[in-house]
Amino acid sequence: MHNKGGPKSSKRRLLGLVAQSMLYAAPIWEQAMTILSYKKELETVQRRGAIRICSAYRTISRDAVQVIAGVPPIELLVLQREPWLSRKHGVTTFHLSQALSGRGCFGKYLHFIEKKEDERCWYYEKNDSPEHTLFRCCRWVGRKHKAEAALGVLL
Ligand SMILES: [Zn+2]
Repeated sequence: MHNKGGPKSSKRRLLGLVAQSMLYAAPIWEQAMTILSYKKELETVQRRGAIRICSAYRTISRDAVQVIAGVPPIELLVLQREPWLSRKHGVTTFHLSQALSGRGCFGKYLHFIEKKEDERCWYYEKNDSPEHTLFRCCRWVGRKHKAEAALGVLL
């Protein structure tokens, strides 16, 4: 699946949950989780699924992608087998994953991966980060004010 376009995160999540169904009625996984190499393999498979769910870059950390995708750590699934992060709202997208993880088209990240000479935003302001883009950038401040007016809160 491509990061941009394709199925929405809810459909991607369904595919991810199908992959996790391997844990159903399998107490053997609990013992397997005590062996580090098996645990790492399961975590790797789960991380890849979580990346597909929320359309994140593959360089995102396991912890970050699990939070964004709403996928509980495999260890918790195995040990507790209880729902975790069963939110009923919030659709994750390619751009939302970038904003939440900080890994995306932000000067700070692009500079970090040596794709850009400095951390400035496209409008030459300093320290382009998700926070800058969402709350301070001169390009988006008009939309921020409209959202504040519509919601009746200060962002
Ligand atoms: Zn800016």
